[in-house]
Amino acid sequence: MSVTTIGWSNKGGTGGRLCNCGSWKKHWLNSSKKTWPSSCSVSGCSNTATLGGHIINPNVTGERIAPMCDSCNGLSDPFDLKGGVTLVSANKGNTCDK
Ligand SMILES: [Zn+2]
Ligand SMILES: [Zn+2]
Repeated sequence: MSVTTIGWSNKGGTGGRLCNCGSWKKHWLNSSKKTWPSSCSVSGCSNTATLGGHIINPNVTGERIAPMCDSCNGLSDPFDLKGGVTLVSANKGNTCDK
């Protein structure tokens, strides 16, 4: 599952949303079957990834979850992702709710 790294932005207003996994970090872990990365997925950011952020891209269908730090999760401007980061679908119907 390889998608563009360019031109992502935070999907606002998702703070109250939860899925069956309990947290979006757990959701990422359950969906990706990978280990949690040590740093944030946003290009140029070396902060520790602490949460699963909802991100959207005009060239990608649906919302994705990316490991991010608190500060990048609050960005209001578009950002790029590091190459090779793993994104999982935020669509519960395809993942934990099926
Ligand atoms: Zn989930
Ligand atoms: Zn960051």
